[in-house]
Amino acid sequence: MQFIHWLWAGFLQALAKRMFHWLARPFMGGCAVLVCLSALFPGLAAAQDGGVDQPIRQLAVVIDDLGNNMAGTEEIMSLHVPVTVAIMPFLPSTKQDAIKAHERGYDVLVHLPMEPLRGKPEWLGPGAIKSSMSDEEVRRKVNEAIDNVPYAVGVNNHMGSKITSNPRIMSTVLDVCKERGLFFLDSRTDYRTVVGKLCKEKGMPVLGNDIFLDDVHTTSHIQKQIKKVELWFKNNTQCIVIGHVGAPGPKTSRVIKQSIPALQNQVQFVKLSQIVKEQGEIRIRELTAP
Ligand SMILES: [Zn+2]
Repeated sequence: MQFIHWLWAGFLQALAKRMFHWLARPFMGGCAVLVCLSALFPGLAAAQDGGVDQPIRQLAVVIDDLGNNMAGTEEIMSLHVPVTVAIMPFLPSTKQDAIKAHERGYDVLVHLPMEPLRGKPEWLGPGAIKSSMSDEEVRRKVNEAIDNVPYAVGVNNHMGSKITSNPRIMSTVLDVCKERGLFFLDSRTDYRTVVGKLCKEKGMPVLGNDIFLDDVHTTSHIQKQIKKVELWFKNNTQCIVIGHVGAPGPKTSRVIKQSIPALQNQVQFVKLSQIVKEQGEIRIRELTAP
């Protein structure tokens, strides 16, 4: 029995190495197969890059502010790696962008507008969550926003520095997400955020933005942020980054596209749902550990 187990493990390892060399080429189908294989055989995740126990480093690129025909949308939709797009509800291209992203094999998030501490109200967009709302109103608004964005697998906040630090409102938002089977990604627009703490308490995946790619709208800054991503992986195996369509959109998409070949030598591009799935597997392993 031990021998069969060893033989099977050896076979998987050899298969993983072959698959990695084949899949390292930049096309999406390959990445999808790798993701599927990893899901079927978790042991494969430790066998890439010729190393025996080297874990796969995963990068999830999330692009915010779709849904309003913003600059850079087309370019983001044609990247040849898995991407996650956050689409604002109730806007002219909300449905069209969600359908297109889904057909591309991307993950779709509801980019839920939330009241900020500062900023103009018109930047919020329709359907925003405000701190003056009752729990019932918040509940209704979140449900309507989710209903408005087809194929959504999760939610993240548009602005929201005031709401993400408000435990009453955030708890209600997360309860609706959980009921609807959606995860919540904290864009981390404020250091006082309670999202991570609440997600942990509610048994939901804990997901937060690690690096904003385009908080300054220049090509040199976005390139600098990509370098930060590479440094991040010196101490971490997963990284979630957020970029935008709109004002920085064309530059952000161009820098991402140019960076893909070099990054693919070091990391695996994944959709956010893949990171959620692996968090779940880690939690199951912890719960069942002797
Ligand atoms: Zn946004």
